[in-house]
Amino acid sequence: AKSCGKNRFELYSQEQTQSAVEHFSIEQDLGKAIRNDELLLHYQPQFALNGLQLCGYEALVRWQHPEQGFLGPDRFIPVAEDTHLIVPLGWWVIESVCRQLADWQAQGQPLAVVAVNISPQQLLQADFIARLNETLDRYGLEHRWLELEITESTIMQDPDFVIQQLQRVRMCGYHLALDDFGTGYSSLNRIKYLPLNRIKIDKSFVRDIGHNPKDEAVVISAIALGSSLGVEVLAEGVETVEQSQFLERHGCNSVQGYLYGRPMPVEALVSDQMLAGTN
Ligand code: C2E
Ligand code: CA
Ligand code: CA
Ligand code: CA
Repeated sequence: AKSCGKNRFELYSQEQTQSAVEHFSIEQDLGKAIRNDELLLHYQPQFALNGLQLCGYEALVRWQHPEQGFLGPDRFIPVAEDTHLIVPLGWWVIESVCRQLADWQAQGQPLAVVAVNISPQQLLQADFIARLNETLDRYGLEHRWLELEITESTIMQDPDFVIQQLQRVRMCGYHLALDDFGTGYSSLNRIKYLPLNRIKIDKSFVRDIGHNPKDEAVVISAIALGSSLGVEVLAEGVETVEQSQFLERHGCNSVQGYLYGRPMPVEALVSDQMLAGTN
């Protein structure tokens, strides 16, 4: 990994040196960050459009860097993917989510499904499912409380193996969502073989509801596809009442976005009454 990092460094042009340096230090610090618990999770609530009941959360990682301050995932997830650190990072996320669910369970708090983003490198590991089962079992959690979010690019890596792996995921009782739907290039033909519970319409299409009829058409056909495949459809990045009404009118099942709640630390879920059973 060291020599690979060096080669990459040499490929950068003069103007890119600054970002190459940043990339390099993030790479060095990230391993420590995972071990030293500098990472944290924010939870963004998801709501069923019918009655606006809270129905789940997405866990999103952040990094409290000792020198650089608060970093969003776009600053370090791509580096983590290049360096394979995404695998230990992904396990850190799953472990943290399970600890949180187990805390809620111990407090007698009703649970809601928590979704985590799974990178292809982690999903493709031979011991992925065994380790996932081991983790949930260790916390005494039913598998149905965890949803795995994958993207269309994951499927492209090794379609036959990925589909098998996802079938095992579902057989073990986990939920499975296809994230960023509409942005990838996987064929609809392939999607029908995926054992999905849910598709998540990408926020780039939701953003232009009310302005761009082509994006509206994509949203409408994604909802139709979901209902004909018998999977739930969630729209992400919902920021306005207009978007929300459009989605409801066209039969979208659930929503996630700043209109309803930002990603936030667990303490804020409590104070904003965004725990399951409180709304
Ligand atoms: P994503 O999975 O598509 O996550 C949704 C992103 O949309 C999040 O950005 C969220 O904060 C943002 N968002 C939510 N509601 C709204 C809204 O109403 N408007 C707008 N404009 N944005 C909204 P975030 O947290 O910065 O995460 C960015 C990406 O980083 C995620 O995109 C995901 O691909 C990746 N990521 C985050 N956490 C993890 C993780 O634990 N593991 C992996 N592998 N990737 C992660
Ligand atoms: Ca996601
Ligand atoms: Ca997404
Ligand atoms: Ca995304």
